[in-house]
Amino acid sequence: MKTHYQVLIIGGGTAGIMTAAQLLKKEHKMEIGLIEPSETHYYQPAWTLVGAGTYDFDKTAKPMADVIPKGVDWIRDYARKFDPANNSVSTKSGTTYTYDYLVVAPGLAYDMDLVPGLREAMDKGVVCSNYTDPKHTWEVVRNFKGGTALFTQPTTTIKCGGAPQKIMYLAESYFRKSGVRKDTTVLFATPGTVIFGIPEIKKTLMEVVDRKDINLRFGYQLVKIDAEKQIAWYRFADHEKEYNHKDVKTEKDGDLTGIHYDLLHTAPPSVAPEFIRKSILVNEAGWLDVDKHTMQHRKYQNIFGLGDVAGLPTAKTGAAIRKQVPIVVDNILLLKERSQIGSMSYNGYSSCPLVTDYGKMVLAEFDYDNNFTPDPKLKQMFISDSSKESWRLWMLKKYGLPYLYWNKMLKGKAV
Ligand SMILES: Cc1cc2nc3c(=O)[nH]c(=O)nc-3n(C[C@H](O)[C@H](O)[C@H](O)COP(=O)(O)OP(=O)(O)OC[C@H]3O[C@@H](n4cnc5c(N)ncnc54)[C@H](O)[C@@H]3O)c2cc1C
Repeated sequence: MKTHYQVLIIGGGTAGIMTAAQLLKKEHKMEIGLIEPSETHYYQPAWTLVGAGTYDFDKTAKPMADVIPKGVDWIRDYARKFDPANNSVSTKSGTTYTYDYLVVAPGLAYDMDLVPGLREAMDKGVVCSNYTDPKHTWEVVRNFKGGTALFTQPTTTIKCGGAPQKIMYLAESYFRKSGVRKDTTVLFATPGTVIFGIPEIKKTLMEVVDRKDINLRFGYQLVKIDAEKQIAWYRFADHEKEYNHKDVKTEKDGDLTGIHYDLLHTAPPSVAPEFIRKSILVNEAGWLDVDKHTMQHRKYQNIFGLGDVAGLPTAKTGAAIRKQVPIVVDNILLLKERSQIGSMSYNGYSSCPLVTDYGKMVLAEFDYDNNFTPDPKLKQMFISDSSKESWRLWMLKKYGLPYLYWNKMLKGKAV
């Protein structure tokens, strides 16, 4: 059994597969081992559409065996422990693998226990999440008969920060179609201070909020869920404020405020996977400690980290990974050839395709400084201003991006 690889990759998600594919494209004979326990690879961005009944869940999944590039050894196991001084990683089954270069990309993990009551409530009855079971979200949205539809998110970092509001815009449209909108209050309770941090995008989203008559509540920190009584409990941050107030049934318990819901959608609290948090590779916040421009580990030069697990001050998305991978690949190849990394620098690019209605989307693209940085290629699609709602952008989300993902990105081709 082979136990040494030139490049050992942990995680066969978006980041791990793209890195393996691009490395092999540049160096066909590279010996790559990929530790990945799951039999299925998911295209998670389409789960937003699954939750709104406009995308088939089965189309978001492919057998892992089909997406792992030929030539890569698939190690069907969980990475468990790092020993960077000896360039080795051991797995759940007890095997130890050594490497010349290590790429850490196991994504993030959900920690339901950070919000007491959430574990019991999640994906049951009227509580749903596109993050964990988008098919259940669609059931809940479809069967909703009116009342308070509460969309919320935890205080932790989450992947694709816009996803909790995307499903709200689509659900609100569906409530109009199903005839329950007049009996419904749509409420978005977020720990944040604004609807979106990029001014150009915020402007459009506030117009959407007005059009859809949504009550926004900022500075709402979700602390517990009472599934039996259907109450979400919040503590207020200092910046607590409201926009477009609606009366909904609330409760008080000391400094906590409870909102009664008839539908609750939330993202789960998210953390780095436990074996990462317990390792010596993390920063103070518990995420993989990598340089924000090179993705090289800040202590161990032959370790790189990217994707959701990386402690980078930008939004955790597949779009961000698209820009991170070429830098990691370039750095590994240069380190191997010349013993030093290259000069490519990641500027924090990330993107959030905010669907605002069935058939409408706004595309937020931005960098570390929250500058709006639209891709010039959008012009080829006749999209002159991606901060405005557009049908063409919706088509890109529903058809273009999934195609590019499966056929280009995962195959290591430039997009
Ligand atoms: C509802 C939703 C909507 C989203 N919308 C968008 C969007 O519109 N646009 C966008 O760009 N992004 C979006 N994202 C985010 C995007 O899907 C993620 O950022 C991306 O998948 C992260 O890739 P990753 O490789 O870091 O992690 P993942 O793709 O999650 O993969 C991690 C892999 O590591 C494996 N793993 C875990 N533990 C171990 C271990 N111990 N050993 C070995 N392997 C392990 C897992 O099995 C998994 O296969 C969305 C996500 C969700 C949930």
